[in-house]
Amino acid sequence: MATRKWSPEELQAVTRLAKQWGKIVVQHAFGEQGPGLDVDFAHMEEVACAAAQGLTEGALEAATAQQGQLLGDKQPCPHCGKLCEVGSAERPLRAKGGVVALREPKCYCPTCRRAFFPSASGVEAGRAWLQSDDDAPHPVRDGRSQIA
Ligand SMILES: [Zn+2]
Repeated sequence: MATRKWSPEELQAVTRLAKQWGKIVVQHAFGEQGPGLDVDFAHMEEVACAAAQGLTEGALEAATAQQGQLLGDKQPCPHCGKLCEVGSAERPLRAKGGVVALREPKCYCPTCRRAFFPSASGVEAGRAWLQSDDDAPHPVRDGRSQIA
């Protein structure tokens, strides 16, 4: 698995690819002929920002869902080490450019009677964390903040 950071050139290539998708967005938003003379720049910018937000959310949701599948069927409980079935739970996460509905791996340890969340993602620094039995909904967290 690649853990290196992407070079500026590689990131520019991704930006060039997404720039091409901007043309598709314009076609979907304004039709084959593009925006009429009645459409001002602020409206075009609003459409572009909505598209950028959707692109960010879609890319992060797809990447984290695929990454979660790498964990396999079972993960060890961080407290007692028992292998537990990996399920999933949805959790909103604030990222650059939008709130992502993460489909995150979730396990339940019957011995400890607690849920835990194994993560292969850099967001969580690869550490599983425990949740109490009350299963309170997750607050929206900042993906760049440290987990306590
Ligand atoms: Zn346990």
